[in-house]
Amino acid sequence: MSQQPFFYFGIILLMTDIFKRIGVSDADLAKARELAAGHFVGSFGEKYKKYVTAVWVALLETYPPAKELSPTELVDIISVIDIIAADSRGIMKRLKEACTCCGWCCSQTKRIEIDEEDAVRISRKLKQRRDDLFAFDGKEWTIKRVNPCGWWNPRNGRCQIYSDRPSTCRVWPLGLTEGEQKKVQPMHQCQYAVMVLVNKVIWTLEGDAKSLKPSNTA
Ligand code: SF4
Ligand code: SF4
Repeated sequence: MSQQPFFYFGIILLMTDIFKRIGVSDADLAKARELAAGHFVGSFGEKYKKYVTAVWVALLETYPPAKELSPTELVDIISVIDIIAADSRGIMKRLKEACTCCGWCCSQTKRIEIDEEDAVRISRKLKQRRDDLFAFDGKEWTIKRVNPCGWWNPRNGRCQIYSDRPSTCRVWPLGLTEGEQKKVQPMHQCQYAVMVLVNKVIWTLEGDAKSLKPSNTA
């Protein structure tokens, strides 16, 4: 007799209490769903859809039980977990091998924001004028030569100022959210960013959510 019906039943049970199991209240869940819905619209929407799709594809490839879930259920789980388990520092440390060293973050990113302290520190270290290396638009500092970054070596894919690189590059693909949580940026081009969320989803479905600290959805 096939195990499929029992397995499917198990998944349905998981679906009903998955968020309760990791300590998310009904109110926080409703709020997370509302925020997740907001991520799919506007100018950010296309970028977010591509990220969720990449997570979805990788999830189906790496975790066969996900095939038992409908597309609607999968999108719900992926986008809600992305919000309620937003702080990704812990899981990123455990998944360093997920970086494929593809070089996309150094060569294709069109805007690299940095801290002012980094602009001061790096220009001093390189003995170059700050304004020659960095631009300030009245709000944010950015690296002037990007896409590819002027310090990226296309021959070996390495950063030429690696030990002095900006903090933005040190924490990539993390970015700061408004709530100051360290959240992975929704970049479908970055396999590291994709696999962080894939693993969060798997651990949640497997009931191994110890490393996922449900965060305030406010
Ligand atoms: S884009 Fe992502 S996977 Fe590629 S090198 Fe950068 S961190 Fe690694
Ligand atoms: S400074 Fe280095 S790590 Fe940062 S984007 Fe440029 S090449 Fe990459």
